[in-house]
Amino acid sequence: MRNALHVLTDELKRLKASGVKTVHVPDETLAALRRAMLGKSGERNAESGKNEPRTPEVETSAAPAGRIAPEVIAPEPPKVYSTLRSSLSASRSSSLPPPPVFTLPEGDKATRWAWLRDRVLGDPVCLAHVRSGKKVVFGVGRIDAQIMFVGEAPGADEEVQGEPFVGPAGQLLTRMIQAMGLQRQQVYIGNIMNWRPELPPGADGRQYGNREPTEEEMTYCLPYLRAQIDVIAPTMLVALGSTASKGLLGMRAFKTLGEVRGRWHEYCGRPLMVTYHPSYLLRKEAESKVGERRAKRAAWEDFLLVMQRAGLPISDKQRGYFLDK
Ligand code: URA
Repeated sequence: MRNALHVLTDELKRLKASGVKTVHVPDETLAALRRAMLGKSGERNAESGKNEPRTPEVETSAAPAGRIAPEVIAPEPPKVYSTLRSSLSASRSSSLPPPPVFTLPEGDKATRWAWLRDRVLGDPVCLAHVRSGKKVVFGVGRIDAQIMFVGEAPGADEEVQGEPFVGPAGQLLTRMIQAMGLQRQQVYIGNIMNWRPELPPGADGRQYGNREPTEEEMTYCLPYLRAQIDVIAPTMLVALGSTASKGLLGMRAFKTLGEVRGRWHEYCGRPLMVTYHPSYLLRKEAESKVGERRAKRAAWEDFLLVMQRAGLPISDKQRGYFLDK
């Protein structure tokens, strides 16, 4: 139950940061929350059949004008994954259907992870946005990883291989993970979005460049990321870059990444570190040696905080990476 309440409060914080002022909560949902807050005695009553059955409540009706309807509030079990629509995505004409609503099956981690992976890879909306011959991208790594990295969306290499962070930015991320004394396979890596955001094709029909996902696209995919977080249950999360951080903290939670970077936040009841996206570090690399070292040192300090929290050993050599001699 605590977990469902964490998800709810995170989502409400995200909405608040996005400028949403009113949230309409249906009476049945309030009743479910009250039952949940009653704690054990309420649950016993529910179990003994005196109260209504504790099924997840799903708000399916359209929100009244000017109000945002939470689509799901899910007392456990089972937990229903969906996303509250934010003011921006609700007020714009929508080109995407509502975010997916689903519950994870019973079973061990491997079973639930495999089910979720199949669900995402077969999601008709994700598939409809993937160009011919390319792949929907789901998270990879250890299913009981302590640390989970969250990026924004697949790029050109990722949509070919169907794996997050395998292009140049991914290779840098892998080197940073190794600098922590870990292997890539020991952590979990996911993205906010599961398909590569489309750009109009060039004259030769090929797409050039990447763009940031829209809020609506992120809103669609977020239930899949949240479900991955629940299955993996990492001890901590690391958001890579501004877009991933906005996806988790709220679109209007900050203006510049500097406001939130290098500090612990919270998402789904888990500590969340915000740091630079490796693509930003690559851009700095291309600009100047001094800028590169400064940015990499700043990111590395964030990684040191993660290592410290994870109880990983930190050598003097590791402490000194990217420090000017
Ligand atoms: N950038 C991301 O944010 N995610 C990827 O998977 C690759 C590049």
